[in-house]
Amino acid sequence: MSHTVAVDVGGTQLRVAVYGPDGITPIHQKRISTRSTQNTAIERLIDLIASVWSGQKSVSSIGIAVPGPTDPKLGVIYAAPNIPGWKNIPLRQILEDRFGVPAYLGNDANLAALAEWRFGAGQGHHNLVYLTISTGIGGGVITEDRLLLGESGLAAELGHITLIPDGPLCGCGLPGHLEAYASGTAIARFVREELAKGCPSTLPWQPAPTAKEINQAAQQGDALAIQAISQAGQFLGYGIANFLQIFNPSIIILGGGVSRSGPHWWDAMQQALHRSVISQAYLQSLTVTLSALGDDAGLLGALALARDGQREVI
Ligand SMILES: [Zn+2]
Repeated sequence: MSHTVAVDVGGTQLRVAVYGPDGITPIHQKRISTRSTQNTAIERLIDLIASVWSGQKSVSSIGIAVPGPTDPKLGVIYAAPNIPGWKNIPLRQILEDRFGVPAYLGNDANLAALAEWRFGAGQGHHNLVYLTISTGIGGGVITEDRLLLGESGLAAELGHITLIPDGPLCGCGLPGHLEAYASGTAIARFVREELAKGCPSTLPWQPAPTAKEINQAAQQGDALAIQAISQAGQFLGYGIANFLQIFNPSIIILGGGVSRSGPHWWDAMQQALHRSVISQAYLQSLTVTLSALGDDAGLLGALALARDGQREVI
């Protein structure tokens, strides 16, 4: 009976879980913080895997979801902006050398799309677009029953399409991307700027409100908060209209904290989306829904990737 070790590398937490040959309920799981003054994130990752490995001698593969541009064919992480020092890391080789089983690597948002397709809200669909909207915006695409990876595994960076070339700076450092208009960071920045200009609001100027606090204020009728949330939803709708025209999916799955922003956000997103597609045919068989797997999507995507042993296929 072979087991799979799945790992989700986050900017704040490293999560690991051991799964049996079937099902998505872990036999064992553990999480630790990614950063420490004692050792590097790679050492912590290896120690964490080793700690669940003992007693699981039949582990046949490791799957890893990583937060940044990754080449799944080479098993290299090009960059992980939230983890200091992670640049061009041959993580697959490092783990295979250490543990002696095949390791499979993927971008966390791509793998979350894979997980939602295999185990979550996207089951039964053949063409799916997944977006996770929180501090940043990540994406993943299933097209004709395959995870879209592109030439170097870098496809589906859906948060970094340019909406307005001289717009505000995105988390990636470039201007005017979708993430700079529709992420939680963008919502918080807009409110901070409006408060600094003296815009009336129930929100305090100091400390600067978070996207979550702004969402709560919007639910209670604060006009500035409603404007911020609606605007973010509207920009996301424009982005989704682009994705419909590129990928023609039958389902859009929205995850991340901002996707739980409520009716102001949802309605603005839907209106913008309906206004900006070139044909209503894109909408006829389209479902737009919230993610089903929540925070476990990255981990379950790593599980699916490792179980498939897709290295040769992709
Ligand atoms: Zn960007």
